[in-house]
Amino acid sequence: MIDTDTTDNLIALVREIFGEGFIPLHRPVFEGNEKQYLIDCIDSNFVSSVGARVTEFEERIAAFSGSKFAIATVNGTAALHAALILAGIERGDEVLSQALTFIATCNAISYIGAKPVFIDVDEDTLGMSPVALRRWLEANSRPEQGRAVNITTGARIAACVPMHTFGFPVRIAEIAAICEEFGIALVEDAAESLGSYVGERHTGTFGKLATYSFNGNKVITTGGGGMIVTDDPELAKRAKHLTTTAKIPHPYEFVHDEVGYNYRLPNLNAALGCAQMEKLPAMLAIKADIAARYRTFCAEHGLRFVDAREGTTPNWWLNAVILNDRDERDAFLSYTNEHQTMTRPIWRLMSELDMFSSCQSDGLDTSRWLSDRIVNLPSSVPESEFHRITNERS
Ligand SMILES: *Cc1c(COP(=O)(O)O)cnc(C)c1O
Repeated sequence: MIDTDTTDNLIALVREIFGEGFIPLHRPVFEGNEKQYLIDCIDSNFVSSVGARVTEFEERIAAFSGSKFAIATVNGTAALHAALILAGIERGDEVLSQALTFIATCNAISYIGAKPVFIDVDEDTLGMSPVALRRWLEANSRPEQGRAVNITTGARIAACVPMHTFGFPVRIAEIAAICEEFGIALVEDAAESLGSYVGERHTGTFGKLATYSFNGNKVITTGGGGMIVTDDPELAKRAKHLTTTAKIPHPYEFVHDEVGYNYRLPNLNAALGCAQMEKLPAMLAIKADIAARYRTFCAEHGLRFVDAREGTTPNWWLNAVILNDRDERDAFLSYTNEHQTMTRPIWRLMSELDMFSSCQSDGLDTSRWLSDRIVNLPSSVPESEFHRITNERS
């Protein structure tokens, strides 16, 4: 049981790390070349959909993540929408995903007119369980011309979209093997996991396609932004085409060969992203330090800290603790938020939202259990730490 003393001590630790006043859950830091790169954009007049920073940002993300190709988009939801189209998902298809995720995952599936099926998560990764995935597929699907079809609905099971919750890598290699076996396209929602690894391999490099988000609360931000990554040159070409209004290159004519999307990232946002990428390794190091301080605190106070699974390196985007039950969670949330310390529960399960209440699921025991108990703790990179580390390095 987390008592008031422990909560007060935790708040004291938060203040020691982040300082006084209101402490947000996750705020961006702009302590590098952000201002300069934005000024350069304005001075050069390249603020919008054309400009060198977009290409540079794409190259930086590809190099950092170890993907062959990266295509910038206006936000992570748009990236996921386009990636799902490119993975071949069509209206009426079903997509295996998590009920324990941010709404964007299911929104993107819905934009296509496809329907999510909710697979339970693992207690340690907070993400899709390969055991639950196989169990559901074996009980609910049959093969038809090398693809999986849902026995009950007759719909094609076109894709699987696991999500690396809070930057903790799911058992992605195991999930990839199952998708391969059942003829299901794997698209990783890696929105939260830039800088997270399984062994040496970056999350987002296991699927046919993966997507990142650079929203204001993510590990790095472009204000708003997203990225599609893939190793397939054809998909990469299609991704760029589809997200830039499907325009045929021509010196002056406007010709478009399909209904495309205006999902391109403006150069201004990409400039911010380039500056943020220069600091990402330093930010990840600081985030790991903060996680270590929470880990020690939790061990000393008998709290359950969500830790890295063996063989993985999370980016520590959002730290989390698992409390004993929903009442304890609610008491903790209201006490900390009343004391200017922003804490948050995990998202309401997708299966409990009106739009998705009719979707199939496997029972979701662990998802439900976790959603009653998880709380996120403040996890920003403190500016003071940032200066200390970057000065030491330069
Ligand atoms: C942030 C996020 C997205 C994309 O969000 P945008 O705000 O559109 O960039 C998608 N999925 C998950 C799980 C996310 O956390």
